[in-house]
Formats: sequence, structure tokens, C-alpha cells
Amino acid sequence: MPALPIKLAENVWRIPTLGSNLINSFVFEEPDGSITLVDAGMKGAPKKLIGSLAAIGKKPSDVKRILLTHAHYDHTDGAAAIRLSTGASVHAHVDDADYIRLGRRPPIGYPGPLGRVFAYVGTRMRSCEVDETFSEGEVLDVAGGLSVLHTPGHSPGHCSFLHSQSGVLITGDALFNFRDKMSYSFALFCFDPKLSRDTADRLGESEYEVAAFTHGPEIRRNARAAVREFLAKRKG
Ligand SMILES: [Zn+2]
Ligand SMILES: [Zn+2]
Repeated sequence: MPALPIKLAENVWRIPTLGSNLINSFVFEEPDGSITLVDAGMKGAPKKLIGSLAAIGKKPSDVKRILLTHAHYDHTDGAAAIRLSTGASVHAHVDDADYIRLGRRPPIGYPGPLGRVFAYVGTRMRSCEVDETFSEGEVLDVAGGLSVLHTPGHSPGHCSFLHSQSGVLITGDALFNFRDKMSYSFALFCFDPKLSRDTADRLGESEYEVAAFTHGPEIRRNARAAVREFLAKRKG
């Protein structure tokens, strides 16, 4: 029995594809009932996503777009299968698009021996065609407007998304909330760990009520204050 999508706000849902919130995808619904997915999970995720959407009466053909926050396998490995089974177009930031097309993870910039080991582990991903690219400041035509916040560092083209209409921020991997504990993305997975922390700081500047994380549960109330408190503590 697939999990029911978890409603975050009007026309916005979360669907976990691993555990109850270890890896999440997000769903935006248009007035005509069509769907945009944010992130496609690992290779087992498509079945869960399609099943979960079916539980709220959605057909595969209702999925029109798949936005990818960045080129890491836990976000992109399911993309090609969903694209194929739904006919949806795939969209990613221009700086990560070729990594997704080639199925290559961006380099890891963690220093020292551990970084050198990780540089050679998990470099292959499932490739997926990217039909369109986006970049900083664009407002995508998704559910009344979805703003692209380029938050590079975790990967070169990593993006967060802000849906002002519903007050939902999707952090992607710019911030984690594993086990309800907010953190910067783990440095060992980052293209440029320092840049990732620096650009995550901009997430304290936008206006939103709900913060939705790829990794971990959402914060449903006063999320901006919680994010700002975390960022201030880290800087202080
Ligand atoms: Zn990642
Ligand atoms: Zn991730």
C-alpha cells in the first residue's frame, strides 16, 4: 500500500521515497490537476511516487514536469524512469544538467585522505535527459510561480525553490533536517563545502512559513525563524 502524500500547504505535498522522511520528493498541483514533481529519488522511487500519486487520484500522465534540485543519485536516479513512464519533461540548473545527462556525480571538494577516497566512490549515477535548464532568479511556471534560488556548493548547480504563494521553501540539500536536527549539508558530499554553507545562508533571507527538506521532516510553522536561528548560531 503506497504512502499517501503528506500535504504541506494548498497544492503542495511531500512524498517520502525512503523511510518516513529520509529522502523526500515534492509535488505541486496546477488548477487543471496536472503535477510537477521536485526530485525523483533513488532507483526504487518511481514505483513509490507513482503509487502515492495514484492514492490521490493522479495518473502517470498527470505528471508534466520533473524539477531536479541537483545531480546526486538520491535525487536523480529515478528521473529517467519517471520521464519515460509519464512523458514529463526534466528540468535542472544549467550547471548540473550535463552531470545528469552523463550520469556522473560532480567532483567532491572535501579535503584530506577521506575526501580523496570519496572522490572515487559513488561517482556513477543513472543518466537522464534534461529537457530544459533554469538558472538563478527565474520564476518557473509552476503552481502560480516557483522561484529558483541557486545555492551552489553542495553541487555546482544545486538549487532550492521558493513557492511564495503557499509559503513553502524547498531547501534541497542546502540544509538537512535529519531526525529533526537542522544542519548544513554534510561536507563529505559537497563539491565545495564552504560555498555550500555560504549560499545556504541566503535561505534565511526569503519569506516562508514551511521549510521542506529532502532529508528529514518539514518544519510547518515559523520555519523562517527556525532557519535563521540555526544560521545565526552557526555563524556566531
Ligand atoms: Zn546531494
Ligand atoms: Zn541528497
